[in-house]
Amino acid sequence: TREVQLVARPHGEPVPTDFATVELQRPDPTEGQVVVQNLAMSVDPYMRGRMNAGPSYAPAWELGETMQGGAVGRVVASRSSRVPEGALVVSNAAWRDVAVLADTEVSVRPDADDVPVTWHLGVLGMPGLTAWAGLHRLAAFEPGDDVFVSGAAGAVGSLVGQFARLSGAGSVVGSAGTPEKVRWLTEDLGFTAAFDYHDGPVADLLAAAAPGGIDVFFDNVGGDHLEAAIGAFREHGRAALCGAISGYNAVEPPAGPRNMFLVVGKRLSLRGFIVGDHADLRPQFTEAVTGWLRSGELTARETVREGLDAAVPAFLDLLRGGNTGKMLVRL
Ligand code: NDP
Repeated sequence: TREVQLVARPHGEPVPTDFATVELQRPDPTEGQVVVQNLAMSVDPYMRGRMNAGPSYAPAWELGETMQGGAVGRVVASRSSRVPEGALVVSNAAWRDVAVLADTEVSVRPDADDVPVTWHLGVLGMPGLTAWAGLHRLAAFEPGDDVFVSGAAGAVGSLVGQFARLSGAGSVVGSAGTPEKVRWLTEDLGFTAAFDYHDGPVADLLAAAAPGGIDVFFDNVGGDHLEAAIGAFREHGRAALCGAISGYNAVEPPAGPRNMFLVVGKRLSLRGFIVGDHADLRPQFTEAVTGWLRSGELTARETVREGLDAAVPAFLDLLRGGNTGKMLVRL
């Protein structure tokens, strides 16, 4: 089997030579194990953090070992009584074509003709649940709320904006990094307004897009986006702090919002979260989202690259905004 390993820790932006593809002998499965042929793998911003040494919520990848990440695959051989041959499974064994895993390391997903397998890594998978939990639980979304989402054309952000619209938001404003992404948000996804954050100070762009202020902020970007949202909040506004990708390649931690004291006067709630703590929401999330996908009300766009050799370029591109919707690699 071919696998991709981390061989150097980046200083700032990662580069292709931080990774190496190796050919390894696949072990035979023992009792309780399954052999999974991966069909697709996810590349995600949090993987940038796993390239660094030191403690974080997701453990650092070890140098000279195969990296991990979300993957969907087919069981091609089974020595498990729980997971039969032919089952469609999600695992944490990305960055390789084939994986030999304990049956406890895979979770079986239903096969349905109208559900592309890649959706288990996107709209019906971790990014989808992140959008759902952040909006509904952490930001305590209520119908009528005016919502701002940063990173709005990405996997999580594009779902947050659509979930808010479909759940009765007053208005939904998004920010993204190119004019094409901005057009997609307003013309295809039903955002009320959107802007390209390169076009000026984010606070000014947000003030123009949401002149009446906002009630909910879903943050994927951090930095000046968070500062702008604090400025735009009405009293009792709620933010779900999901990510801060603007700082992931920073060598020195960036300065925090300069207007933090507004959090006091406006009685704001800013809540960070990690999706793994909110698995209990999966049934209600799956039911709602499957319904919207079947009715055609929800768009699940993907940017798909082909083959294991495309995985590192796909990851590096993701960090630079080369994706619209979910970035993934078909294997
Ligand atoms: P995306 O699909 O949104 O891809 C990342 C996007 O970030 C790029 O497409 C790019 O779009 C944008 N970006 C890159 N650099 C910058 C920058 N300097 N300023 C603004 N935008 C930038 O990824 P995901 O949807 O998978 O993840 C979105 C966020 O959610 C990330 O911060 C991630 O870490 C976080 N996350 C958190 C989870 C949790 O449990 N808390 C779980 C999953 C994700 P553009 O062209 O618009 O710049």
